[in-house]
Amino acid sequence: MRITPEGIELPARAYLFRKPRSYTRQDVVELHIPGSPSAAAALVSCLIDAGARRAGPGEFTARAFFSGRIDLSQAQAVADVIDAAGDAQLRAAMEAIGGRIHRLCHQTAGQITDVLAAVEASIDLADQNIQLDVPHEVSGRLDLLARRLRDIAEEAGDMPETADRPCVVIAGRPNVGKSSLLNALTGTDRAIVSALAGTTRDVLIASMTLGWGMAVGLHDAAGFTTSGDSLAEAADSAARRAVARADVILFVIDAGDPSPRADRDLLAEVRAANRRAPLVLLANKADLVSAARPAATPCVLEELARCPLRAVSALAGTGLDELKAHLADLLHLSAQRGAEAMGLHARQKRCLRACAAAAARAADLLAPAAEVADVAELVAVELRQALAQIGQISGQIVTEDILGRIFQRFCVGK
Ligand code: GDP
Repeated sequence: MRITPEGIELPARAYLFRKPRSYTRQDVVELHIPGSPSAAAALVSCLIDAGARRAGPGEFTARAFFSGRIDLSQAQAVADVIDAAGDAQLRAAMEAIGGRIHRLCHQTAGQITDVLAAVEASIDLADQNIQLDVPHEVSGRLDLLARRLRDIAEEAGDMPETADRPCVVIAGRPNVGKSSLLNALTGTDRAIVSALAGTTRDVLIASMTLGWGMAVGLHDAAGFTTSGDSLAEAADSAARRAVARADVILFVIDAGDPSPRADRDLLAEVRAANRRAPLVLLANKADLVSAARPAATPCVLEELARCPLRAVSALAGTGLDELKAHLADLLHLSAQRGAEAMGLHARQKRCLRACAAAAARAADLLAPAAEVADVAELVAVELRQALAQIGQISGQIVTEDILGRIFQRFCVGK
């Protein structure tokens, strides 16, 4: 077919997906046109004139969720695919879309509901002296379930929470190797490396993957010096802003050519600009320092930074893996996980742990009981609590606030 938005004739294809066999379980028409932003804009304005409206952020996925086509863990995973930082998160997000978390919720809810049904039956049948279940056996089953859920939460990698990535800033005198370090840590040639002091005037930002595929913004605050000219001042203020909002600061000195006084003054200034972020002191160019000529240990810097000096070499790549592991620790990112690990958001982990805790409390109540009926009412309260926590992951029980936060992360339409 051909369509003519704004009088421009475009070749187009329309695909009709009849309900309920569509992403949203509603009737859906997809218009495919040549991949031109101008053509798309013309078509959208033409459709809006005809009475259509723009979709809100995540609207298609929200419709798929509300129609029961997918559960909340799958809806959330759609945004995770877009935000995935690295292979581990992408794989985990695709598995979640495929129903990995959904199945976990379904099985767990099924097991808890079975126990709850038996517990409630024991209340009804208490008068008739019929023993339905042996309390310590039920307790054992719940205990096993609680342990399994705790292990899953413990072993799962972290999924991205918001678009705000943790921010690591590299500061230090010109020519100590900040740009080289940024390149070595990110595995790119993002920063221009030059032997001429003061080459990097801007705040360079690159992305580095830490821990279990978590993206961290790495900023080279090369301009954190003042030399009087306006370009340096502009760079300086951008660098100051970067330092001020850093979550971790890497302060670099040149192991081969330290300048204790200048390093100390700059470090004091960096500290004054951000007293909150942990500092990591790096002696770069460790490859230039032979064992016969160890660099004078700048204890003053260590005292000022309240951390030991770490030797690294951006050029030789030494000490960088240890540095990344240390950064992941400082930023509380989950460590490397096996390929089997599930990826979970902090909220999902909290719900799993709360479900496990409620199941464990129910197990503790049942263990010493002579009959299930003796503790049935208290156990039922805990089991309903456990079910409610699982319902918050699958979306069966969920507040407007949580839904709002999840769907806000989506780009328009998706
Ligand atoms: P910046 O001004 O702090 O960003 O420093 P650069 O990254 O531009 O590096 C300044 C110079 O030091 C360049 O010639 C780099 O090749 C060199 N350099 C950086 N890191 C190392 C290192 O680990 N070992 C050695 N030998 N040279 C390095």
